[in-house]
Amino acid sequence: MTSSYDSLGIRPIINAQATLTMFGGSLMPEEVRKAMDQAAGSFVDLHQLQLSVGERLAELTHNEAAYVSCGAASGLLLATAACISRHTADAYEDFSKLNGVPNEVIVQKMHRNSYDYAVQEAGAKMVEIGSNEGTQIEDLERAVSPATVAIFWFQGAMNDPSELSLKDVIRSAGKHKVPVIVDAAAQLPPVSNLWNFTQQGADLVIFSGGKDLAGPQASGLILGSKDLIERIRGYGAPYHGVGRPMKVGKEEMMGLLAAVERYLNLDHESLLQTYEKRVQFWISGLDGKKGILAQRDYPNEAGQPVPRTRVELPVEVPKEEVIDALMKGEPRVAVAPSENGNALLLNPMTVIDGESEIVLERLLQVLG
Ligand SMILES: *Cc1c(COP(=O)(O)O)cnc(C)c1O
Repeated sequence: MTSSYDSLGIRPIINAQATLTMFGGSLMPEEVRKAMDQAAGSFVDLHQLQLSVGERLAELTHNEAAYVSCGAASGLLLATAACISRHTADAYEDFSKLNGVPNEVIVQKMHRNSYDYAVQEAGAKMVEIGSNEGTQIEDLERAVSPATVAIFWFQGAMNDPSELSLKDVIRSAGKHKVPVIVDAAAQLPPVSNLWNFTQQGADLVIFSGGKDLAGPQASGLILGSKDLIERIRGYGAPYHGVGRPMKVGKEEMMGLLAAVERYLNLDHESLLQTYEKRVQFWISGLDGKKGILAQRDYPNEAGQPVPRTRVELPVEVPKEEVIDALMKGEPRVAVAPSENGNALLLNPMTVIDGESEIVLERLLQVLG
């Protein structure tokens, strides 16, 4: 394997874990790289580009409006700023003006996660409702006040049947005229999520460009309400102010557009078949060998409708040691630890052709 990382003495990783930011998100296909390369070749009016790319993205995803951010987390920050600015037009002229303005963002306690720091970075105060046991509609109704600027919904592993449903949240928010923002950063596939959340009534939905969309790693996609996205546009780079440190380049804008065009045209049925085949390949290569129990697991770590392989290890072989040995070996291989029990989880979405075999081979070697 040759790559430009070699010149730094850095060994690339075969990723059978997930579209993790710390490993580089995802791999950009040819179409995306070409679009970025072409974009890099000429100057352009960046405001005009963001506007036109946004119009095209909105059309493609059946949304009113769209904006390219430099990642889903920056989308969370910009969306929050837009919601706060609905109440206080000059909120971001200087930070002292944020004192005392409506800034409360309601979130279910069960949805709290490390990404909501980005919401707070816009100057918002998180108001938790419910408990780790669940949330009731009364909890939400009690929390809404004139200081409420938005209700955030995080979609993913944090979702639980005891939480307040998105449908109930949207209904209650509509009554109080409070926007609902959905963080769906890792919620592709299914491709229909590009319009599902907003068609259900969410005001904005935010995706990572660098996960399954396979766009530039430093890109994000905000879709939904024209009014909120126009506000976001006013705060985003190259304008100065709250969004300026989260610059989006012409290459990211054109790369993300190419990625979304490609994603919409993918044969998702046949991709799923490929994933099922990889999962079955790992199961047949591992199950019953060296004390291993291998089986299909569904859905995956982000709750996506995609299978993965669960590899139950013998008790005397701790999962941490296997993960460590795979990472230190040649080539480096990344797999996930199970949430419960002594098992590994193999993800078929992030390996490319020929790599499932290497993952299997390395696992069998490490297990002796
Ligand atoms: C990955 C992720 C993010 C951050 O996305 P970036 O594009 O890396 O900024 C935010 N929220 C959730 C739930 C995620 O999974």
